[in-house]
Amino acid sequence: MSENEPFIGIDLGTTNSVVATVIDGVPRVIASRTGQTLTPSIVAVARNGKRLVGHMAKRQAITNAENTAYAVKRLIGRRWGSLEVEDARKVLPYELVPGPEGADIRAMLGGRAFAIPEVSALVLAELKADAESFFGRRVTKAVITVPAYFNDGQRKATRDAGRIAGLEVVRVINEPTSAALAYGFGKQMEKKVVVFDLGGGTFDVSVLDVGKSVYDVIAVGGDTYLGGEDFDRRIIDWLVFSFAQEHEALDLRQDKMALQRLRDAAERAKIELSEGQQAAIHLPFLASGSDGKAALHLDRQLTREKLEDLTRDLVDRAIAVADRTLRDAGVRVSQIGEVLLVGGMTRMPRVQQAVKTFFGREPSRGVHPEEVVALGAAIQAHALLHPQKGKEVLLLDVTPQNLGIMVVGGYFATIIPRNTTVPTSQSHLFTTVQDNQTTVRIAVLQGASDKAMENELLGEFVLEGIRPARRGEIEIEVTFDISADGIVGVSARDSATGTRQSITVTATSGLTESEMRRILEENLDEQLTRRQVGDFERLRDRTRTVIVEIEALAPAVKEALARSRFGKDAVLRAEEVVARARAAMESGDLQQMIGVEEQLDRALQLFKGLAGGAPPGGKGA
Ligand code: AMP
Repeated sequence: MSENEPFIGIDLGTTNSVVATVIDGVPRVIASRTGQTLTPSIVAVARNGKRLVGHMAKRQAITNAENTAYAVKRLIGRRWGSLEVEDARKVLPYELVPGPEGADIRAMLGGRAFAIPEVSALVLAELKADAESFFGRRVTKAVITVPAYFNDGQRKATRDAGRIAGLEVVRVINEPTSAALAYGFGKQMEKKVVVFDLGGGTFDVSVLDVGKSVYDVIAVGGDTYLGGEDFDRRIIDWLVFSFAQEHEALDLRQDKMALQRLRDAAERAKIELSEGQQAAIHLPFLASGSDGKAALHLDRQLTREKLEDLTRDLVDRAIAVADRTLRDAGVRVSQIGEVLLVGGMTRMPRVQQAVKTFFGREPSRGVHPEEVVALGAAIQAHALLHPQKGKEVLLLDVTPQNLGIMVVGGYFATIIPRNTTVPTSQSHLFTTVQDNQTTVRIAVLQGASDKAMENELLGEFVLEGIRPARRGEIEIEVTFDISADGIVGVSARDSATGTRQSITVTATSGLTESEMRRILEENLDEQLTRRQVGDFERLRDRTRTVIVEIEALAPAVKEALARSRFGKDAVLRAEEVVARARAAMESGDLQQMIGVEEQLDRALQLFKGLAGGAPPGGKGA
């Protein structure tokens, strides 16, 4: 690629997303076309069928809750029917349905089923468009971040989202590592750093050894179901419960619009309580009473103390994960040189206090918690795409969860233990368990349990053509490869015959290759229509200006024609062209607009000439 081909780093968050780049060696956040640095990770289909993304989608969320998808990061790469998904379905105002294979999840928006990576792709495409507007040219190369605790399926699905958005994802990196990169940028430090990242939907903690040019992740831990959304939910539950007590057990959660208003109000109150001690929650006309007529209003005061009460266990859970991760890393609290707070939720004073108490030191707030991850991603993109001699930065990340296969008895055999540095490749020998067994089914799993069923199934394949023999006689070598992205490839080989089967584990992304192609094609159509809409709008604005000019010249032209023998019908013809142009503007049809453009231009030139302006073809025309 050329030295100045633009590239971006994207923090694809649960609540908000951020895009950044590096310019002249300096990482910086790219503001959206409307001037904001955070783009809500929200996608909606409006009543007129139009797709809305970001702030536009957020603004209409209350009145169109059932067609507005938010927090899809909690669903990406997950399986239909899993506990987490069942839990999410209870509170999400938009409908979830199983995908065609029954394995993944689709969100129903405006009557169409969207694969989750497709929803994320719309957010990514919006950020890409913001970057393109900033650079004034096409941008394709990107590094995207994911929670360190994301498994293979979640990573793969995030990569798919990038592909659907028209991005070439050069690397998927972990959010805490990315934050550390941005923090350490240009600092020449050497210490152990803990990144405590509590975002909108996920919690991640990483312990890193940061050297001058090496970022060595020693251990990661986390919970992909712990974040700001859970704090909001506690407030919502509290409001719903007390409302039900007052109003004959009326359950506000049954009303999607009321639920969306509660969500907004809960988040606002939570954020207010990071500054003040009290937040007023006032939601007029939230429901109607049992007679169906009287309007019911909700009015509550939430104190900081009450909020802390409602969410104490969530904070405790995060600290417990931090504790376990430190132990995994074999690092004592006293050895930690820096604790970085990342993610919007770490602005909550109680969270900061808990971190301070646990680590026995003031956490660092020298970085912007919402932007630091995207900045790190941009730094990584820069390092990968424009490696500079002598300035290389080595990023050594680890795999977050045990990886292995199911063995006889339904047990889980770990092949690569968690916190192993990636990329890595490891093999293990297994044997057949039945006499004359000619096939073996390899189920690839990721998780912490020694029971296969309790772990996440990443994919399965069958090794065939094994030489018939007594059980235990045949050796099968199973090899796991994990790329620097954390994406898993598995192969199995019959040591005797050399028969080999392999897969890149793709199952949980949910999208088959043919489906992916269909989505890519559809997306292209959508982009094309969008471009046409954009072109039409530009042309319409220009046409409007030309008409104004023509009309302004008309009196002078008429006066000139009164004294001339030529061009008597010019005004009539111009009027005709203007009428046609107006009709084209009304039609919304790009071709019609293009058709009339030239005639309109000619009419303007003629008018300019007739009115005594510059003659056609003359200077200053
Ligand atoms: P992130 O994914 O890092 O953008 O984090 C978003 C989460 O942080 C959301 O749940 C927000 O409600 C929450 N958040 C943002 N600002 C604050 C604040 N000042 N106090 C508490 N929570 C906040």
